[in-house]
Amino acid sequence: MKAKDYTNENLKCPKCENYITQVLDSRSNALGRKRRRACSECQYRFSTIEIMQDNLDEIMKELSALKRIKELVIEIQNIKG
Ligand SMILES: [Zn+2]
Repeated sequence: MKAKDYTNENLKCPKCENYITQVLDSRSNALGRKRRRACSECQYRFSTIEIMQDNLDEIMKELSALKRIKELVIEIQNIKG
């Protein structure tokens, strides 16, 4: 079975910036869905991950908490001199 072409104006090939890709493989995990893609122009292969909005919000919250911890560690190191 030949992979189907998908056109998505928000998703372009990182190599040649073509908007038409083929989905080679697709699998779900706890966070969302991962797709293995191939550019229909240059054949470059790359992956995309589709994440449920609620999960993404949670990840962004944790990421900003980690950034804050990193800032605090730097502040403490500066105080110690
Ligand atoms: Zn390409």
